Amino acid sequence: MTLHVSRISPALLILDLDNTLIYASQYEPGSSAQCVVGEYAIAFRPYVHSFLATCQKRYRLAIWSSASEHYVNGVLEKLAPRIDFAFVWSRARCTLRNDTELRDWLFTKPLKKVQRLGWPLERMLIVEDKPENVQANYGNAVYVTPFSGEPDSELYLLGRFLTDINDVANFRKSEKRDWQRTYAHLVRQAKSH
Ligand SMILES: [Mg+2]
Repeated sequence: MTLHVSRISPALLILDLDNTLIYASQYEPGSSAQCVVGEYAIAFRPYVHSFLATCQKRYRLAIWSSASEHYVNGVLEKLAPRIDFAFVWSRARCTLRNDTELRDWLFTKPLKKVQRLGWPLERMLIVEDKPENVQANYGNAVYVTPFSGEPDSELYLLGRFLTDINDVANFRKSEKRDWQRTYAHLVRQAKSH
């Protein structure tokens, strides 16, 4: 049975910051970044503002970054001062985990912490550039190509994809791995946008 959109819970979209929506590099005088937060020059990913506006129409938005609270708040003040996020979480909310395969410590984002706020896992997505950060919830993850300052159309295409899958009753059962390939034909449309 397909549930009508009005009968399913509102969807929550949790967004990572660094290398997903923005790129931070050490600030140097003359840097061409859009803003400066602390010692960092911040470049916004192309289409980030229209992406947020598009997603806001269908999702409740939230931020979960593994950076410090001070940095996260500083970035959001410049990037999205008027968006009322469901929550803004930083490193303190991450779970530190020793990854034996990567031989590294990871600040992971287990979604059971979000579930405790009352959001159902079936209607929750997390956008991330690092799959290892959301290993426990890969069924809820939408991966993006890491952004390191080079222009791309990723957020334009992602906005289209997230709009299209919004009314799925259980995101965990919908296919998300190949979204970039499925939406690649819209790149030309992005360029004329
Ligand atoms: Mg990231």
